[in-house]
Amino acid sequence: MVKRNPHIIKLNAGYLFPEVNKRKRAYLEKNPNAKLISLGIGDTTEPLYPHMTQSLVKAAQDLGTAQGYSGYGSEQGNLLLRNQIASKLYQNTVSSDEIFVSDGAKCDIGRLQILFGSHTTIAVQNPSYPAYVDTSVILGQTGEYNLEQGNYRGIVYLPCDPKNNFFPDLSSAPRTDLIYFCSPNNPTGAVSTREQLTALVNFAKKNRSILIFDAAYAVYIQDPEIPKSIYEIPGAREVAIELGSFSKMSGYTGVRLGWSIVPEELKYEDGSSVKTDWSRIVSTFFNGASNIAQIGGIGVLDDQGHPEMMKMVNFYLENAQILKNTFLEMGYEVYGGDHSPYLWVKFPGLKSWDAFEYLLEHAEIVTTPGSGFGAEGEGFIRLSAYGHRSTILEAVQRFKSVGVH
Ligand code: PLP
Repeated sequence: MVKRNPHIIKLNAGYLFPEVNKRKRAYLEKNPNAKLISLGIGDTTEPLYPHMTQSLVKAAQDLGTAQGYSGYGSEQGNLLLRNQIASKLYQNTVSSDEIFVSDGAKCDIGRLQILFGSHTTIAVQNPSYPAYVDTSVILGQTGEYNLEQGNYRGIVYLPCDPKNNFFPDLSSAPRTDLIYFCSPNNPTGAVSTREQLTALVNFAKKNRSILIFDAAYAVYIQDPEIPKSIYEIPGAREVAIELGSFSKMSGYTGVRLGWSIVPEELKYEDGSSVKTDWSRIVSTFFNGASNIAQIGGIGVLDDQGHPEMMKMVNFYLENAQILKNTFLEMGYEVYGGDHSPYLWVKFPGLKSWDAFEYLLEHAEIVTTPGSGFGAEGEGFIRLSAYGHRSTILEAVQRFKSVGVH
């Protein structure tokens, strides 16, 4: 018999979203006629716009021609796409040589764990996107799960809540090798200011840590004063890796396309290049993103695709505002939604899973319990603004009619 990976055994109660789905299915089994609305998993809902679609169609059609056929591509990704990411999204503050195209940010989070190995220590925001902690548990970086505290003994959790404007108190934070940081944040919807990110970069520099900056929602930032990339902060190139994704930017959650940036200046303790090792890991564990998706990505970022992309992002931001205003009018404490597709709603007197169950039973709306993102999320619910407009408006009516709680 084969022994089970001892680190997988340590994973706490399965991944959050399968648990949400399990409860949703159980509800549907009991209430087969229920018309559930899902504001739970942050999955895009709107069809692609014409130019975006045409780029994918053409890429597929070209594969059916002798001149257009291509097999394996460059391991680092299509150069034209990397040039476009560099120029359109980073104003050439990073070079195409530092960009690694991937099949999505989540896959990169997993591969980054392999890059750094099981001896590293990590810090995460609390609450945070579950993949940082779970991939780290699987690699054995974390020690056992502490049931009482609802966290892993070996991970440093940096509380982010309304009291500290969702930015951790770095003066009391211990050093770790890696710091995962996400802005605009999933799940809280909070966005960090230039001053805050400067403090974060300086903290990483002082501690000789590596910052893994998840910018999967950067395109949702509305205020030009708020950095869309960690590389807008002086010194970040020496301490930070950045992750980006087409998923929420252009409705590519199913198409799959993302990227990572590892600057030339980023070095290990012994002076060797992180980028060189990342290149080795990527080419060992991965054979490149789909050529169709990459050509599609070029279409998203070109002069016709870019306005379509922004239209899509603005549509979801309007949804977020509709939901936010509803909760504000009902007197709820609600965060996020201004530079992010997520709302973080406090349910006074209720634990997150109880609020989840309440909304499922009384409003037939699926949400995501805040506690699933970390102990500091207890008492909150995350609402996703991904939905057709009619669905969001129907959800608003249901929230109002159940008075929520
Ligand atoms: N990072 C964050 C913060 C996310 O919320 C998500 C998806 O929800 C991802 C990464 C994964 O993105 P992708 O679809 O590119 O794998």
